[in-house]
Amino acid sequence: MGTAEAGKGPRCVFCDIVAHRAPSHIVYEDESTLAFLDIFPFTRGHLLVVPKRHGARLTDIPWEDQMALIRTLDELCRRAERLAPDYNLALNAGANAGQVVFHVHFHIIPRYGEANPFRTTSRPPLADSDAKALVAELSKP
Ligand code: AMP
Ligand code: ZN
Repeated sequence: MGTAEAGKGPRCVFCDIVAHRAPSHIVYEDESTLAFLDIFPFTRGHLLVVPKRHGARLTDIPWEDQMALIRTLDELCRRAERLAPDYNLALNAGANAGQVVFHVHFHIIPRYGEANPFRTTSRPPLADSDAKALVAELSKP
């Protein structure tokens, strides 16, 4: 249990999702990691993969949790390939790198042939109906 989860730090939205206190579209869960749909997806099927243990960045969590995260990433990258063979895997560490949620997470962003993959200007919110279809597709082991 990290500091935010223990109540010593500011409230963490991803700890709330890990604890099933906040709504989310979960596609994978095991004892130490969780994967769910990004609520403002860059592309269809944009996923976030997080350790259950709170830490702002990768180097803040124990090696065992980092290993578990990589194992889950391998599984979710394979599932993301059901949507598109190409994808970006990204981790933003720190505000200057664009991190806005300070609970370490990897992004898996399927790519469908956008001209400028890193210059998406509009990010429409995840539609409930599509979330259902994506969870059905990506929850399958
Ligand atoms: P980063 O800039 O790497 O910190 O990315 C944080 C990501 O979390 C952004 O892509 C947000 O759209 C996403 N996000 C923020 N709050 C939620 C939430 N409650 N459920 C799902 N995704 C979220
Ligand atoms: Zn957290």
